[in-house]
Amino acid sequence: MPESVYAATVALAGNPNVGKSTVFNALTHLHQHTGNWTGKTITCTSGTVRWKQQDICLVDLPGTYALQSHVAEEKITREFLQSNTADCIIVVVDATCLERNLIFVLQVLSITRRVVLCLNLMDEAAKKHIQIDIPKLCEQLNIPVIPCAAAKGKGLNELMLAAISVAQRADMDKNDCWPITSTPELVSQAEQIAKTVVSFGNTQPNRDRKIDQIVTSRRLGIPIMLMLLAIVLFITIVGANIPSEWLSQLLFSFTAPMDAALHYIGAPEWLCALLIDGVWKVLASVVSVMLPPMAIFFPLFTCLEDVGYLPRIAFNLDHLFCKARACGKQALTLCTGFGCNAAGVVGCRIIDSTRERMIAILTNTMVPCNGRFPAIISLITLFIVGTAQQSWKSSFLAALSLTAVIILSVCMTLIASWILSHTAFKGMPSAFFLELPPYRKPQFAKIIVRSLRDRTWFVLLRAVCVAAPAGAIIWLLGNLHWDGQSLLTVFAGGLDPFAQWIGLDGMILLAFILGFPANEIVIPLVLMGYLSAGSLVELNHLTDLAQLLNANGWTPVTAVCFILFSLFHWPCSTTCLTIHKETGSWKWTIFGMIFPTLFGIVLCFAVHMVATYGFLIG
Ligand code: GDP
Repeated sequence: MPESVYAATVALAGNPNVGKSTVFNALTHLHQHTGNWTGKTITCTSGTVRWKQQDICLVDLPGTYALQSHVAEEKITREFLQSNTADCIIVVVDATCLERNLIFVLQVLSITRRVVLCLNLMDEAAKKHIQIDIPKLCEQLNIPVIPCAAAKGKGLNELMLAAISVAQRADMDKNDCWPITSTPELVSQAEQIAKTVVSFGNTQPNRDRKIDQIVTSRRLGIPIMLMLLAIVLFITIVGANIPSEWLSQLLFSFTAPMDAALHYIGAPEWLCALLIDGVWKVLASVVSVMLPPMAIFFPLFTCLEDVGYLPRIAFNLDHLFCKARACGKQALTLCTGFGCNAAGVVGCRIIDSTRERMIAILTNTMVPCNGRFPAIISLITLFIVGTAQQSWKSSFLAALSLTAVIILSVCMTLIASWILSHTAFKGMPSAFFLELPPYRKPQFAKIIVRSLRDRTWFVLLRAVCVAAPAGAIIWLLGNLHWDGQSLLTVFAGGLDPFAQWIGLDGMILLAFILGFPANEIVIPLVLMGYLSAGSLVELNHLTDLAQLLNANGWTPVTAVCFILFSLFHWPCSTTCLTIHKETGSWKWTIFGMIFPTLFGIVLCFAVHMVATYGFLIG
């Protein structure tokens, strides 16, 4: 951060989920992801605020509850504050739970007095009939206090004005800090201040607590969670099918004109085939299969996140993870893993203990990421529900089966965590502090923009970047011959004996291997492989897919083994690199590839054996 070009450096600090990222984005016009759970802002992000012809550097510090422990985020924030890098610290607090937030404010004040308090979420506080005596709070803390509603852009100008004025004060004595001797003293001071400045209207019904009594109850918590999951999946399946068909028809309708254009400019035959049959058809198929479900699933998922439901999932799953001697926060990293395993692995930084973080990292890929969902959904529809014709009933059955697949993946994650915590990472689970944030009305416009931009577009772009070269490679393998056979057939043939043993075939296993850069291309690669010319057919409808797979010997057992292997095999290349970055070890990265694959092999083998044995005695 080239400080010299800035008139001042201002940092944002605060508990997680108090609106820091919202303040940061609003002031810098930068777009940083805002989520609803602990530790999302893991590294410092900085941006520039243009203020009265001056550039101010704004640093977004990681959200933390305290400044004393060894959690990575707390260390970063503490060291930043102690370094005196910032000319002013804006501490953002949630006006609806001031007392708890004040503990952090007092901790910051014990390090520096260059603080402005941003009393955020004032709109929520007003709705809950919570009144705060701002002049009294200013007086008690002896710092400027600015009421804000950052999501609505209210109070931000006043906040900057106060921050600049503190930043420019030369008369601040660095040693004039809040005198704190112990944590209990800190808590009682926060309690005392809150008592004198906060008053509650008597009409305040404790809505959140009532909802939580149901949503996080022992008996109903998990069933409600599964029901919500099934509803999200049902909407995704029902909504995605028809747009997928339209998109496929649209994209494949460009095939002939593009082919003609390439011939027109005199491109050689092999190049036309490589670009059209190899690159374009794989691209078109990946986009049409992936885009519609993602464009539905991600906004729904983000909606649950925005409402504040995800921390409740962690709460509900906490005792299961404790039984596996892992950390309940791992449930949050699993939720992130459903979107993208690489993001899930990075999210494991929210886990304090190294032992538990390693367990969470090494098992994160056992939940299916978005790249694996479309193939799993198609196979469930074709082979388990048993129809290519979409109806409410078939979509409902598909959603239920997919929910079962997800439950299986979570159970396997728990088993894998248990195995690791009893072998390589022995130890007892640590206690953790998880905030259940207030429920908030989701902001639909923001959800759509955020989920499409940060998630759908990101995942699709990555898939497209990977699918294009992979399409070219498989085309080459299909069209280069050795000893009268295409290389594709030769390689698939080599893998076939082992693959048959686990209920798959050589082509499927080869597609999984070639799909290492991105899981989303595995099914297109299988299809290209089956069409030994190395070209992809136009699969406008699931019926076409069913015919092709049946013609190549697929049975429901093959589909089940494919789904199992898709759930439990090596992570994609991006996730592997992320595991290496997070663990700093190639040994654990390789282990992270082998460990889930062993689960896949054992499960597929078991299913194949049971099916074969069943048929034999049948
Ligand atoms: P951070 O974890 O502190 O960075 O918090 P975020 O900026 O991610 O905000 C958490 C949630 O609070 C998001 O859903 C925001 O849209 C919401 N939020 C932030 N500021 C306000 C506000 O002033 N009013 C309301 N109603 N919601 C807010």
